[in-house]
Amino acid sequence: MRGSAHVQDDSKLANEGHSPSSALRADIAIIGGGIIGICAAAFLAEAGLDVTVFDRTGICEETSSGNAAAFAFSDVLPLAHKGMIRQLPKWLADPLGPLSIPPAYLPKLLPWLIRFWRAGAPGKYEASLTAQAGMMKLAEAEWMDLLDRSGTRPMLREDGSLELYESEAEFRASLSGWAARERFGIGFRHVEGEALAGLQPGLSPRFVKGTFVPGWKTVADPKLLGKAVWAYAQSRGARFEMARVERVAADQEGAVLTLADGSTRQARQLVIAAGAWSHLLARQLGDRIPLETERGYNTTLPKGAFDVKRQLIFSGHGFVITPLETGLRVGGAVELGGIDRPPNFDRSKALLQKARKFLPGLDPSGGREWMGFRPSLPDSVPVIGRATRSRQVIYAFGHGHLGLTQAAATGRLILEFVLGQTSSVDPAPFSPQRF
Ligand SMILES: Cc1cc2nc3c(=O)[nH]c(=O)nc-3n(C[C@H](O)[C@H](O)[C@H](O)COP(=O)(O)OP(=O)(O)OC[C@H]3O[C@@H](n4cnc5c(N)ncnc54)[C@H](O)[C@@H]3O)c2cc1C
Repeated sequence: MRGSAHVQDDSKLANEGHSPSSALRADIAIIGGGIIGICAAAFLAEAGLDVTVFDRTGICEETSSGNAAAFAFSDVLPLAHKGMIRQLPKWLADPLGPLSIPPAYLPKLLPWLIRFWRAGAPGKYEASLTAQAGMMKLAEAEWMDLLDRSGTRPMLREDGSLELYESEAEFRASLSGWAARERFGIGFRHVEGEALAGLQPGLSPRFVKGTFVPGWKTVADPKLLGKAVWAYAQSRGARFEMARVERVAADQEGAVLTLADGSTRQARQLVIAAGAWSHLLARQLGDRIPLETERGYNTTLPKGAFDVKRQLIFSGHGFVITPLETGLRVGGAVELGGIDRPPNFDRSKALLQKARKFLPGLDPSGGREWMGFRPSLPDSVPVIGRATRSRQVIYAFGHGHLGLTQAAATGRLILEFVLGQTSSVDPAPFSPQRF
């Protein structure tokens, strides 16, 4: 609890090659100031724990800043479903298409791809689907409460989403996915003709059908929301230190972080929420977790580029258009290209070109291009659980396409681990040891 004695014994971890001269000792250190880290900070600070977030760039300045802003509570289907795997050859044939793999990266990626393929096997797929559906129920309840507690509810847009199909065949192919969602009580309505045009005026006539999901929500701007939730966490006592964490070590008593300037910090417990870089830190603690990154691209156009009524989803092309308070965001796609390769903004441009065809009145000028790193596990289920060798370390990463959506639920689950409480969801599917 805040103000309580800190139990870390300097000498033990000093034996592992770390200086005992720590400037800071916290109950809990969190590595990563993305949406997962800051939601965790909010829950832990509310519970009266002494929390410090470490990040090399700031609060929600990387992947959590530029995403598509969806609270995609109905998005429960793991990516490795048959429909997607069937699309792979077509998608891979287009170098700027919805999915790309730089050939030089393929050998490194191959083990992950094999796991991804296996995750699509019926039994495994069903288990991931059930886990995600449970997580999403928690996600919605926890976000609505956290928005209220943090005073950020006005940032929520509740106008649903509209998924669009260019042919009867594409629509029919989507039906099994909608049937799966229906099993978990997710509401939707298939629309065409005037009903479709009413939901989004100005759409290209190439779209013959759509599915409206009323429970889908978006936020005014994910970066602004992240910073506002952080301001709330700070008001409850959470602290921030701008630093790159180079090394981590832990035992059953606590953890030591070594920062880029060589100084160390100690904590009774450590949460690793470092997005697409988390596996590098987990490896230092003896856990090999198959985390990859699905890099995504977009362009944010100035407000007024087009009157988009709600989030539009073009699944066949792997991108979405989201109306934000700060502009119109066009993008998505997946590039399985690792964390080191520089961005290829031709992808953002290709998506914008498509958007112009789909919304013929769209003004494409004045946009800001962006790339982010989705932290992705092969079964599309995040890792939330304790490290193998130290109960004092909790992992929270790998949320893939759904990190914004699942952040508050993850915050709740981390708090439950820290306090030793019964988990709100079955923790087994999220276990770091499942691979
Ligand atoms: C194009 C695109 C669209 C998306 N749309 C949506 C959407 O609509 N809805 C949704 O729910 N999700 C969406 N996502 C996914 C979502 O953005 C991510 O899942 C989420 O942002 C991941 O959050 P995070 O906190 O785990 O990671 P990050 O936001 O990447 O934060 C991790 C932080 O850790 C820091 N860090 C890493 N290593 C270290 C270190 N050694 N020392 C110090 N700091 C370190 C990084 O600097 C970073 O700030 C989208 C992603 C992309 C790319």
